[in-house]
Amino acid sequence: MLRALLFQASFARSLASLTKLKSLYIGLLLSDAYILEEHVIHSDENKGGKGILNSFSSCAACGVFKEETRRREQLISLALSKALPSLTHIQWDTLFAPFENTGLDTGEDGSCSSYDRNPFQIPSAIAFLVHRHVDTGEVKVLLNRL
Ligand SMILES: [Zn+2]
Repeated sequence: MLRALLFQASFARSLASLTKLKSLYIGLLLSDAYILEEHVIHSDENKGGKGILNSFSSCAACGVFKEETRRREQLISLALSKALPSLTHIQWDTLFAPFENTGLDTGEDGSCSSYDRNPFQIPSAIAFLVHRHVDTGEVKVLLNRL
């Protein structure tokens, strides 16, 4: 998490002179880099599955990383929102689609497997709207459906 905070502080300093900046898109992933390698290793492509493009959002093995990734995305968005008072919208690239974009296949044997409706949308995007309370100045970031 320390790296994430250093990252946020560096971005906030770099962007501080943009006092009218309202919308920010950062095409970075806030997941740990090893997640990509792990996903390729446990991909079902060699077993006749849909492969690595059956992406992270529907991958049960990678699901354990989703919560930490989302926490980083939200925490850094909030910190940037506090540091950049004109900001109203922040968007990131993400390995984990913020809203379900999956369906279920049912095999002849009754087994079920999930798949991405749009597996070529890797990475996905996640966006937060910045809400500033007029009286208290409290800042919140809310997940926004794209
Ligand atoms: Zn995976």
